[in-house]
Amino acid sequence: EAVVNKIAAGEVVQRPANAIKEMMENSLDAGAISIQVVVKAGGLKLIQIQDNGSGIRKEDMMIVCERFTTSKLRKFEDLSSISTYGFRGEALASVSHVAHVTITTRTAESKCAYKASYADGKMLPSKPGGLAEPRPCAGNQGTQISAEDLFYNMPTRKRALKGSEEYSRIADIITKYAIHNSGVAFTLKKHGEPVADVRTLQSSSLTENIGTLYGASVGRELLAVSCENSRLGFKMSGHVTNANYSVKKLQFILFINHRLVDSASIRKAIECVYAAYLPKNSHPFIYMSIEIAPANIDVNVHPTKHEVHFLHEDVVVESVQRAVEDGLLGCNV
Ligand code: ADP
Ligand code: MG
Repeated sequence: EAVVNKIAAGEVVQRPANAIKEMMENSLDAGAISIQVVVKAGGLKLIQIQDNGSGIRKEDMMIVCERFTTSKLRKFEDLSSISTYGFRGEALASVSHVAHVTITTRTAESKCAYKASYADGKMLPSKPGGLAEPRPCAGNQGTQISAEDLFYNMPTRKRALKGSEEYSRIADIITKYAIHNSGVAFTLKKHGEPVADVRTLQSSSLTENIGTLYGASVGRELLAVSCENSRLGFKMSGHVTNANYSVKKLQFILFINHRLVDSASIRKAIECVYAAYLPKNSHPFIYMSIEIAPANIDVNVHPTKHEVHFLHEDVVVESVQRAVEDGLLGCNV
């Protein structure tokens, strides 16, 4: 059973960036407006994520790393994300099967913070033979989760990953979440470094963040685009570069119902519009946020599949494409 759990966990957490994505989403779910990430060796030696969200209640700490139990901790509105993204409640459990996890957390109601370590889904006793229970400690409201020695029990996987490459994947994913969640301060640092490689302020706007994180020229050449379709419960708003801007590689950032995903059909449709405006082999920067009734997304049962399909995909793709086309026409270059 342990082996089966480990294999399943290795599928959910394929690399440090997946683990960080899940943990950031938890911090955002907990209402955090500050999320600080520190990593060592591209997350392979250490991932540490600190937020100022709601914290975890002491009595819930026993089960946070158990598979599928966490829907019990959730409020009713989260059912929509369950129906959109398939099974949930797997992320922390999975991390605890492939790394050494320690959680320090404090809720607004609690007089102190509590700390506990986990292995294979279970809380560990603080001394061998002792009771498994959270230990009181000092700490501010919010949660700090650290995952050490990722894939310590999967040596082949561990050897296949290179710290520097993993670090750029992490930076990439945090940058994208920072764009989508302006109003939340994000930092990413290498352990021991004084300066952050990714930094946004809580007070900066979406377009400011795009400028700081992707370059001033991107920031200057942005067009706001949007469209909606009430029948599909569908709404898109985005920022895309105009025809004065181009790069060698397409930058395509798509959030659907606040999750970073990919949609080949939307990506291709947009590239197709730009082909008429940009020189050959030149590409735009695209950021797009789509909200759509969960019933109109093809249920995607595995959390690592980032490719999304829609019911009525042609309608969705066409209206997004038209919005971008109108944007480019309107700016009259
Ligand atoms: P899910 O998010 O699908 O419920 P996870 O394994 O990602 O499953 O998280 C387990 C649970 O742990 C969450 O439901 C939440 O109750 C709690 N949790 C995890 N991270 C945080 C956090 N940063 N702040 C508050 N609660 C958290
Ligand atoms: Mg989660």
